[in-house]
Amino acid sequence: MTTQIRVGIGFDIHRLVSDRSLVLGGVPIAFDHGLLGHSDGDVVLHAVADALLGATGLGDIGELFPDTDDRYKDADSRDLLKDIIGRVRAAGFAPGNVDLIIHAEKPNLSEQKTPIAQSIAALLGMPTVDVNVKAKTNEGLGPVGNEHGIACTAVVMVSKG
Ligand code: MG
Repeated sequence: MTTQIRVGIGFDIHRLVSDRSLVLGGVPIAFDHGLLGHSDGDVVLHAVADALLGATGLGDIGELFPDTDDRYKDADSRDLLKDIIGRVRAAGFAPGNVDLIIHAEKPNLSEQKTPIAQSIAALLGMPTVDVNVKAKTNEGLGPVGNEHGIACTAVVMVSKG
């Protein structure tokens, strides 16, 4: 059987508000604002989840975990991602590598990139060296630059066979 290599992309953005805790990639981040969402608002795990679903043709996170469903209110996104990696592996795929960009004007995430990579690697059952986390400001431009939100773009490669 020939090896199938597939690639998926994911993007998410959530609004920053003052009365929520900030969690990125499953890692609690000390900051005076957090991300609003039906779940915990973890844009990083949501983007990675959508990239995995895209690579494997399994749909998107909004279809699987609708924000109109009370079961997912304040859901821990680590549980959502664990469910999704289970579906990915059940379809015969294994994650090869993850690359992602966190778009955040604040806080500075340079110290958090490694813990976030470790967290994602543990959730997906893959080596940390295969998960790359980048963090960028938006140079003051747009909703990210104005500190109204934090976004994440993720790309995942998976293989089968
Ligand atoms: Mg989301």
